[in-house]
Parts: sequence; C-alpha cells; structure tokens
Amino acid sequence: MVGRVRFNFTNSYAQLPERFYARLVPSSLSGARLVKLNSRLAEELGLDPAELASKEGIEILAGNRVAAGSEPLAMAYAGHQFGYFVRQLGDGRTNLLGEVIGRDGVRSDIQLKGSGPTPFSRNGDGRAALGPVLREYIVSEAMAALGVPTTRALAVVTTGQSVVRETVVPGAVLTRVAASHLRVGTFQFFLAQGDVDGIRTLADYTIGRHYPEAAQARHPYRALLHGVIQRQARLVAQWMLLGFIHGVMNTDNTSISGETIDYGPCAFMEEYDPRKVFSSIDHQGRYAYSNQPNAMHWNLTRLAETLLPLLVKEEGSDEAGLASAHHALEKFGLHFEAARNAGMRQKLGLTTEYGEDIALADDLLKRMAENDVDYTLTFRRLCDAAAMTDGDQGVRTLFANPADYDAWEKTWRLRLTKESISPQDRATQMRQANPAFIPRNHLVEAVLRAAIDRQDFQPFEDLLDVLACPYDDRPSMDRYSIPAGPEEYVSKTFCGT
Ligand code: AMP
Ligand code: MG
Repeated sequence: MVGRVRFNFTNSYAQLPERFYARLVPSSLSGARLVKLNSRLAEELGLDPAELASKEGIEILAGNRVAAGSEPLAMAYAGHQFGYFVRQLGDGRTNLLGEVIGRDGVRSDIQLKGSGPTPFSRNGDGRAALGPVLREYIVSEAMAALGVPTTRALAVVTTGQSVVRETVVPGAVLTRVAASHLRVGTFQFFLAQGDVDGIRTLADYTIGRHYPEAAQARHPYRALLHGVIQRQARLVAQWMLLGFIHGVMNTDNTSISGETIDYGPCAFMEEYDPRKVFSSIDHQGRYAYSNQPNAMHWNLTRLAETLLPLLVKEEGSDEAGLASAHHALEKFGLHFEAARNAGMRQKLGLTTEYGEDIALADDLLKRMAENDVDYTLTFRRLCDAAAMTDGDQGVRTLFANPADYDAWEKTWRLRLTKESISPQDRATQMRQANPAFIPRNHLVEAVLRAAIDRQDFQPFEDLLDVLACPYDDRPSMDRYSIPAGPEEYVSKTFCGT
C-alpha cells in the first residue's frame, strides 16, 4: 500500500559505500501513541503536521512502517568513551529514516531514537525509556530557543511496550532532527580499520554537506579541520555562558556539524561551581563544567588524528601534515576565548571593549562561586541592576554575603560610565544574553514524573511553553525562573539508556 505521508526524502548518506552503515527493517510493535508533535518544526521542514499525526504517520514515527522514499539505516561509528576507545559503537537504538530539505533549503537528518535493535545494538535492547526521551525533547528545544546550535525534537510516541531499566518503565521513540549525525567517532571508525579511502570519502561528504567553503580552499581538508574546530569552540563557549553541562562529551557524542548532540545526563547548573558534575557515571569529573573546553579540545585532537593521512598528502610531507594539524588545534583556544569573552561582555552589558573587562567578569564569577548563588538568576537580576542605579536589591540578596556583590558592583558601575548607551537599552540588550528561563533540573524531573506516573503530559506542555521564549519576562511564570528548594534539589542525573 502506498502511504499518504509525504516526507520527500532525498537521501545522501544512503548513497555512500555499504560499509558506512547497516540497513534496517521496520520493527513490529503495536500500540504506538503520539504524545507530542512539534508542528512548528514540522512546517519548517516542509512536513504536514496533520499527516504526521495520522495513523500512518504515527506508525512511521514509531519505526513500524517505512515511509515512501525512506531508506532506514543505522550509521557505523566508533568512539572514545570517557577516554577509552571502542572500535565499534554505531547506532544501537536509532534509525536514520532519511534526509529532508527544509523551507530554508537546508538538509536535515530525520532519525528515530529508541525504535528497536540494530546490528550495532551489542547487549542493548535498542529501545528508549519515556523519561530520557522527554528530557531530550525538553532540553534540546530549550537550547534551540536559547540560540544554541542543537539537534531538534520533532515528535515523541510511546511504543505501548515497557522497557526494563532500573525499574520497568514505558518505552518511547523520539524523532530527532539534526544537520547530520556525523560525529568525531564516525571518522574514528574508519581510522581504526586503517581505511584511508573511507576517511577520504567521509571527509569529502562532510565538506559537501557542512563546509562547502572548504571545497574552494587551497587545502580543503585543512579547511575542514579548521571549520569544525571553530564551530565547536563557539558551541562550547555558548554552553559555558549559559551554565550548561553536557555530561557525556565522548567523541561519539561530538558532532561534526557543530551542533549539541546526545542529551543524556546533561544539566543546567544552578548554584555556580566550576567543578560541577551531574552525571552519575562521571566519577572523575572528566566532563565537569569547567573541563568542557579541554574535553572538546581533546576530542578535536582525535578528529585531527583521523584526518592526518589526508593532511599529510595535502601538505606534501609527514612533518607538514602534522604541523598543519597542530596549527589548527592551537586555534581552538583563540576561538573559544573570543566567543566566551564577547558573550561575557554581553552578559555584563558592555558594548565596548576594554582590557579589564574579562577580569571584571572573572571577579564576579569568583564571588558567585564563594556565595553559591544561582548562575542564571544572578545574571538575569543583573539586568535589573543595569536598568536603574538603585536596582541592585534583587541580585545582591542572592549573595549569602551581599557585601561581596557590593564591592564588585562599584567597579562594574564605574566601567559602565565608559558606555554611551542608555540604562534602559543596556538592560534590554542584557536580557537577550541572560535568560530568565532554563530547563531547571527539578522542573524537568517533575514533568517526567507526571508523564510517567500519571500519564499527565500537561506539565510537559506548560514547561515547553515557558522555555520557548527564554529571554522574555513573564511575571506569571515566576516559579519557573527560581532555583530548586532544598527538598526538590536534583544533584545527580542519569543516562537512563
Ligand atoms: P549514548 O550513551 O546514548 O551516546 O550511546 C552510546 C552507544 O551505546 C551508542 O552506540 C548507542 O547506540 C548504544 N546504546 C545506548 N543505549 C542503547 C540501547 N538501549 N540499546 C542498544 N544500544 C544502545
Ligand atoms: Mg551517543
């Protein structure tokens, strides 16, 4: 039977050599139910929300039926997990349905997560639990609204089957949208096999899809490496500025397109502490908040290693190839600092650049850490302080010792006198850099509990609604902007895979 749901798939990855992936057959669970559809994203992708919500659409989103034009596959990849290399990981529970060209002309992957076993499942069941699926939906959509490059969430269906984790929980499938699912680990897969042809094919594919300007460069592979490094440096700077902790920055979770990918035990920090770790499996703090730039540099070094055979050829000698890789990696810190410092200036309401600005920012952060203040709320209330010279009350009361804030405030106000912008305009601009609403861990937990324990998805909808406009003041939504009380505080997060 020919289906009525139109995706207009145009699949480029499925044209690559067979060793890049494994083809998949549909699973055959019954009882799938659509619990969330991102209609706005569907429309941006040129998809019809009504078609996706139809009986046939839900079967497609559950992985039970193959849509017209879809060539379902699981991608092969390797990866360093917490520093240990695994030669073969691959999509163990995801299904790349295909690619669509959105209204903006951009190509996106449409992928199901939790749709059943694949040849890469190893000991896993190929499934996903409702809790982590809703979590990824909430956090990835929040990140998009915050302006951070990220994979998106298109739909959630419950499968009608349970999955066994620590307890028995409802199974679900997330439909994820990404610029692509190419990872550092995809390149590592071919290096581990000594397959230089595979690396070259993958690099050429990547340039065509994500870095077309590199194709015009005199050294295209060098330009590719520079491009990935620049995008990832900027991405991590954005995470840092928002207090976001990814939690599992393994090389298989590091995208080549520069998007945030794989929302597992990620979390937004509440009380500011650079050493903060949430993930229950990150015992050494490898992916602690302040280690994220280092972790990303380490991952990009692994990417550079995979490109080395191509760089050597391109640059003409072993030494020149190696020097080219080193040179690119050295740029990471510069890109990161530039993005981070520009972002910090914005957060503090500075539109001009003075040498002492970064020390001013770091001094505030130090005082914030000493006073355990809420990261997001401090910067948001600083916008009120910027609007009026006597608007400090809100922010200073967050400090256990308000005198710590007062001392810093004097220097800040002196610095503000060098700016010509009006206080009101400054505050308005600052509010664009300092969100009122982030997916606070206790809010996310409460939403998941309602959905899992009571099949009540209204709290999930309400939270999504607030997070869709994170930079707007909404006085009636105040409870979403304040930190967790002691009894609701979440100190650990879990992958739940
Ligand atoms: P992640 O921690 O989600 O980045 O996954 C790491 C690797 O484990 C990937 O190869 C996944 O496909 C695989 N994996 C995670 N959960 C499952 C599962 N439930 N069944 C099969 N494979 C899984
Ligand atoms: Mg992963």
